[in-house]
Amino acid sequence: MTTATALSTRELCVEADRNDPLAWLRERFALPEDVIYLDGNSLGARPREAAERAAFVVSQEWGNDLIGSWNKHHWFDLPVRIGEKIGRLIGGADGECVATDTTSVNIFKAVSAALRIQQDDAPSRRVIVSERENFPTDLYIIEGLIALLDRGYSLRLIDAPEDLDAALDDDVAVVLLTEVNYRTGHLWDMGDASGRIHDAGALAVWDLCHSVGAVPVGVAAAGADFAVGCTYKYLNGGPGSPAFFWVANRHLGRVETPLTGWWGHDRPFEMADSYTPAPGGRRFLVGTQPILSLATMEVGIDMHLETDQAALRRKSLELTSLFIDLVETRVGHHPLTLITPRDEAHRGSHVSFRHPEGYAVMKALIANGVIGDYREPEVLRFGIAPMYIGYADVWDSVETLRRVLDEELWRAPEFQERDAVT
Ligand SMILES: *Cc1c(COP(=O)(O)O)cnc(C)c1O
Repeated sequence: MTTATALSTRELCVEADRNDPLAWLRERFALPEDVIYLDGNSLGARPREAAERAAFVVSQEWGNDLIGSWNKHHWFDLPVRIGEKIGRLIGGADGECVATDTTSVNIFKAVSAALRIQQDDAPSRRVIVSERENFPTDLYIIEGLIALLDRGYSLRLIDAPEDLDAALDDDVAVVLLTEVNYRTGHLWDMGDASGRIHDAGALAVWDLCHSVGAVPVGVAAAGADFAVGCTYKYLNGGPGSPAFFWVANRHLGRVETPLTGWWGHDRPFEMADSYTPAPGGRRFLVGTQPILSLATMEVGIDMHLETDQAALRRKSLELTSLFIDLVETRVGHHPLTLITPRDEAHRGSHVSFRHPEGYAVMKALIANGVIGDYREPEVLRFGIAPMYIGYADVWDSVETLRRVLDEELWRAPEFQERDAVT
């Protein structure tokens, strides 16, 4: 097997693409010819088939069969059926998964449900632990939930993964961690961390936004209590496609949702005047589902289910290692600081470097056909989606980075101005 460091010329990268057993997958995505897309961790590329699927749902199911589609085309079951597929993908055999709502909303439901369990089992525990480096919405949602519950809960933030144990005392009720950090790409060992969280008497809620579809995930084997995540990133579900919500079976008998909408009712079409939760994970549905998005996203989920996740992980690590090596050997004369773990066991599928002019550099890269993104502060983030990124893409994108920096293309005035979405 080729090692990343051996790929010291573009020709060797092209040859590695020729020998890549996963190379055929790229043809199943629609990507513009003149672009290297390194932002699949923010909005995954479109599976070609998704366009036909969307067109069929709009013209045939909605256009022709109208309201009958809830039954005829099984719209009503979509969040559960697709949720089951995602459940398989995240190794959730021992649990139930639904595809619904956004990750933000699902974090609210999961942390709230976990706190309710602890309110019965360990009522004195009033601390929620998370990471200062977590994606902001994860922290904002907890802040709002704490204010809403008004029971003296507080949020305790750790500054680095090594600080987890020190933060776990008898006051901790719930820990919310993101398996792969959105900025640095740091990957937790979910089983090890969940074990330590349980040993301390707390429950473990995992956010899988930057791991599902890029890193093999095993929520049941890890002993997770709840898991949530996006589908529009590495799962290629499409812009704003619904998130997922997974809960371990051992909690199903008692777990409660804070958002008791009619879609989570045991018998929604009885139109009863009070709420009875559905028996399984379905109780975590709230209201009418975004059917167009759900139907379209199934294409990407199916592709991931058909793909060997271990092979995908091997390729992802080879590509991220290659990216790091090439930047350091070919662009190392510029002030770039790697913030992604070198240790493969702790690396997700994106690579981030800090550069003092990060924002302008990224804008110049995008103008030159390499689409990554920029995150505060000073971070150039390059998502390596192994389904459609190849070895030569990595070579070419590093060469573009070298040109942007060597020729100081980023100094152009049009690259200094901030857009609304970075
Ligand atoms: C992308 C991401 C989100 C996004 O949440 P939305 O509700 O879909 O906007 C949340 N958490 C993490 C860790 C993410 O990476």
